Amino acid sequence: MANIWSTEAWAIVITACALILLGELSGNWFFACALTLGAYIVWLYHRLLKLEHWIRKGTKASQFYNDRGFVGIIIHQLYEQKKVQNRRKRRTKRLLRRLNQNISALPDATVLLNGDLQIEWCNEPARYLLNLRSPQDLGNKISNLIRDPELSTYLNDPQSREYIEIGSPVDPGIVIQIKIAAFAGNQFLLIARNVSDQKQLQESLKNFVANASHELKSPLTVIAGHLEMLENENNLSESGQRSLEIAERQTERMKELIQGLLLLSQVESRRLDPGEGDNIPVAELMVNVMAGLDKYEDRDRIELHYPDDLYLLGINVEIEGICINLIENSLKYANPETPVRVRWETLSNGEFAFSVEDLGPGIEAEEIPRITERYYRGAKSRVEATGSGLGLAIVKHAANKHGARLEIESTPDHGSRFCVTFPSYRCQRQAHKPSRIVNLAEY
Ligand code: ADP
Repeated sequence: MANIWSTEAWAIVITACALILLGELSGNWFFACALTLGAYIVWLYHRLLKLEHWIRKGTKASQFYNDRGFVGIIIHQLYEQKKVQNRRKRRTKRLLRRLNQNISALPDATVLLNGDLQIEWCNEPARYLLNLRSPQDLGNKISNLIRDPELSTYLNDPQSREYIEIGSPVDPGIVIQIKIAAFAGNQFLLIARNVSDQKQLQESLKNFVANASHELKSPLTVIAGHLEMLENENNLSESGQRSLEIAERQTERMKELIQGLLLLSQVESRRLDPGEGDNIPVAELMVNVMAGLDKYEDRDRIELHYPDDLYLLGINVEIEGICINLIENSLKYANPETPVRVRWETLSNGEFAFSVEDLGPGIEAEEIPRITERYYRGAKSRVEATGSGLGLAIVKHAANKHGARLEIESTPDHGSRFCVTFPSYRCQRQAHKPSRIVNLAEY
């Protein structure tokens, strides 16, 4: 550093000496000043121009030069920074190359899209799953290369769904699951995987359950018929009577289980299109629901509130399944002295909510995510053998199939609220009639 400033000091001293010498010799001090200071300024400019040229050429190490003055400090600092940058660049390049190799080796098709949904990069599996080629297709809009209305809708709003399943553009027989994730502000990562085997397995499992349940129905009806005949026998011993009662109870349970399995295999199918389904009058639906609950002697504690003019677009038996299962649970689990509040209501955003609220035992917070799993039963249900563990699984799948969502709020020892919210396109109000509270004596 001292060396640098001594160079500058020497330059000033030499300039001053030249000025004095010239001034003394010529006697023209103005001329002497202009000449020496001019020379000093030109020398400074020359060094700055050299520096500017070196920076413009990219501060290359091969063109690195030495300046003994303050310009030297700038050159040195820039050179050091450049060295650090180069090291970082090399590291990033290495990392990128490794990442590239890893992503390319992934069995899933991976496509990088920019904010305009143009392809920036894709790996090898994208060729045989999505029919995209690199580099030929890079820069093209993905919706121009894969023409699928479901994919276009999903691309326009990736937040709207978790994933979609479509036929592969290479072979429509291959089912691919596509997931889009936004990253780095306005870029998207599209990941597609072949789920054909999984789908096939699910389908055969579903068919097996549906067929087995169906086949079990007939022998069970025969058993139930024989048990009914036995019931009318007068000469049954007391223990025989007890065995008969147990057999009847178990047959009834088995019937419910089979019905549940059949309904579950039905609701687990694909999601309905927005316009698909029957136009169901909610008033009529609730009459059927109440009829389906006639085995509950204390069903008069149900407080039913719904608008008479509400119509729901959906599959009748599945919507009935949602209502019956939720109300039945509250009747089963909540104290018989407490009310069960059932409501259909319009929300401010146009959606319709069906809710069932009770003052029952409630559910522990950690148990809530599990109760919608099939065959999951809480302690009471297990001990008293009152349920199949299929009810809430049916509700969840039927709701999803209709584009609705199930929400559960519960406080242990205070009660629970189950709410199924239907999208606005599934509900409409026809000819205004006021909401009413239904008197159960009507049924
Ligand atoms: P289950 O046939 O056992 O009733 P569900 O799928 O309908 O099967 O319910 C799963 C579990 O969720 C039940 O076993 C019970 O522990 C809990 N549950 C459901 N509804 C209620 C409710 N209204 N109050 C308290 N617990 C409930």
